[in-house]
Amino acid sequence: MAATSPQVQQQLRCGVKLLLLSDELLSGLRLVSPSQKALQLEVQPGEEDAQLTVTDADGICVLKCLVNRNTEYCRVGKESLLITLGYKSVLLRFKSQVEYNIFSNILKICWKQKKDTSVFSQRTDEASAAQYFQFYGSLSQQQNMMQDFVRTATYHRAILQNHIDFKDKVVLDVGSGSGILSFFAVQAGARKVYAVEASSVTKYAELLVRSNNLSDKITILPGKIEEISLPESVDVVISEPMGYMLFNERMLESYLHSKKWLKSNGMMFPTFSEIHLAPFSDEQLYMERYSRANFWYQECFYGVNLSSLCSAAVDEYFRQPIVDTFDMRILMARTVKYTINFTEAAEEDLHRVEIPFVFQMMQSGLIHGLAFWFDVAFVGSLVTVWLSTAPTEPLTHWYQVRCLLQTPLFAKEGETLSGTVLFVANKRQSYDIQIVAMVDQTGFKSGNIIDLKNPFFRYD
Ligand code: SAH
Repeated sequence: MAATSPQVQQQLRCGVKLLLLSDELLSGLRLVSPSQKALQLEVQPGEEDAQLTVTDADGICVLKCLVNRNTEYCRVGKESLLITLGYKSVLLRFKSQVEYNIFSNILKICWKQKKDTSVFSQRTDEASAAQYFQFYGSLSQQQNMMQDFVRTATYHRAILQNHIDFKDKVVLDVGSGSGILSFFAVQAGARKVYAVEASSVTKYAELLVRSNNLSDKITILPGKIEEISLPESVDVVISEPMGYMLFNERMLESYLHSKKWLKSNGMMFPTFSEIHLAPFSDEQLYMERYSRANFWYQECFYGVNLSSLCSAAVDEYFRQPIVDTFDMRILMARTVKYTINFTEAAEEDLHRVEIPFVFQMMQSGLIHGLAFWFDVAFVGSLVTVWLSTAPTEPLTHWYQVRCLLQTPLFAKEGETLSGTVLFVANKRQSYDIQIVAMVDQTGFKSGNIIDLKNPFFRYD
């Protein structure tokens, strides 16, 4: 169930003293209200900030300001708070430590509420996010992606060959990692790039920006795209948000979320993606999965009968999507494709993705499962560039992904296999995939439920 945070209802009204501090501290502190009698502070908590209003005995407002996460403030002594607003600072002195604490707690709840209600934190288990961003915090992981030549060279080409879309433009790089795509945008003539990255790799990205003398062009903003603020809206969003089977990691949603910073006629790079699926026949793969589970078939493992767990083991192995590559000839029909247009789609569209299919069988045999891959297209003003992870194309670090059926289905050439693949997003930054399929002419049915978060890497 979704964790919801309590709404801040608590308001505060209490007496305070107020001192104004200017840069010329030498001239001393100035009391805002000379009498210092009965000043009243009222705190109105909002969703992302708190409004402070200080009025004097006649009800005249002597200070009004919004305090948010980015406001500079600090505690002074036991019951005072120093807030810096522009060039001036004010010291709020509470009557007691208790009142100070109530006030400070209200602020804390305001900040926490913003964090807890970000779209990202609402849809993600904390443990999943921590592990995920730790993974991307390492240079070796960033290197792994950068060294995928097909991936990096295609992004480079897509951006540079469409240089007029970047020349003098403001660009947002969502999940910038090492910052490599931000550098490409600058090479294409971007005036300014905001590089948003939630993992600790930002410290290295910052170093790269400085050592490449691009601090005036590239600004690294540490944080999640769902939680940070940009100083201006942007002309182009660039990102590499694709996971295994396109959807794994749920980063496409973060990419779509970033459109809140995009000007109305702005561009998305990549612009759209196509996921392809086709039935395949691979007896060897099917038997291999079974024989792994056969370990649990033993009745005397060091004297222990394991066989009661055999069917649970088969289920577990069959729930794993298989990540590797294969010969095209195992495919038994032309692919069905499903398109996601990043300029049009909303992030909620990816919470549940249903892909219906009807395959015309091109050969007779046993169907063991469905194979998946994806392409993305960069539709620029000058050229459209494709990045493909198809089995007919050079291999990428995404490989292809296959999902097995619980029982193979026999079909003859000319028959049709119809059904649906349903992707349901989960809080582990992945999807539960439900497949149902039927050979229409015979009524033979099969299916499976796959856990995309737990793939089996079968390549060497
Ligand atoms: N753009 C880089 C890295 C791509 S990998 C490149 O092309 O090489 C995706 C990156 O997005 C990771 O570094 C990950 O930490 C980051 N990321 C994922 N979700 C994010 C989010 N919601 N906000 C900010 N960064 C995110």
